[in-house]
Amino acid sequence: MCSPGSDQTARRLFLALWPEDTERRQLVELATGVAGRRRTPDANLHLTLVFLGATDPARLIAYEAALADLSPPTLELTLDRYGYWPQPRILWLGSSRTPPELYELVAELHSRLRGCGFTPERRAFQAHITLARQHPGPAPTQPLVTPLHWQVRHVTLVESLRQDTGSAYRIMRRWPPG
Ligand code: ATP
Ligand code: MG
Repeated sequence: MCSPGSDQTARRLFLALWPEDTERRQLVELATGVAGRRRTPDANLHLTLVFLGATDPARLIAYEAALADLSPPTLELTLDRYGYWPQPRILWLGSSRTPPELYELVAELHSRLRGCGFTPERRAFQAHITLARQHPGPAPTQPLVTPLHWQVRHVTLVESLRQDTGSAYRIMRRWPPG
């Protein structure tokens, strides 16, 4: 069922936590206050769980089968701190206490996808939402006035589409559905 992932019909995919409207509005507010010129477009704000990369149709079918009965726990993510990675010059929003359930969820995704030949990143998972690229840094040192409490209920499969104006994302599926 699994096959190597590279042909002309390959799509660029990732698994993410996708903010609902309420959380997105709050994220936009937080980003607007700190992010500067190369802010992530409002509609693109998300938290990547697993980057799948170029995925051909057969591989996609295998991934979807492997994830079919995924039942992610409801978890509360508190986004309460900014961070900055100087090398890619990324300003991000994260959590000072990432819930263990989120690490467990990522580990479960890796384990299911490994069965389809997926090789997880060696880097440890670090929950973050990119607020801006090419940011001069450093991250704002002031604590967030109001931390964002996000009740996460779904894992989302997203396609990344390259457009003239930058990347656009299309939600393909989510678990649990609905
Ligand atoms: P752009 O690349 O156009 O600046 P983008 O990085 O948001 O925009 P993608 O490169 O398609 O769009 O990435 C989709 C998501 O996957 C983003 O959250 C990105 O940070 C993450 N991602 C991209 N490449 C990798 C990678 N090699 N390893 C881990 N995560 C990645
Ligand atoms: Mg990218």
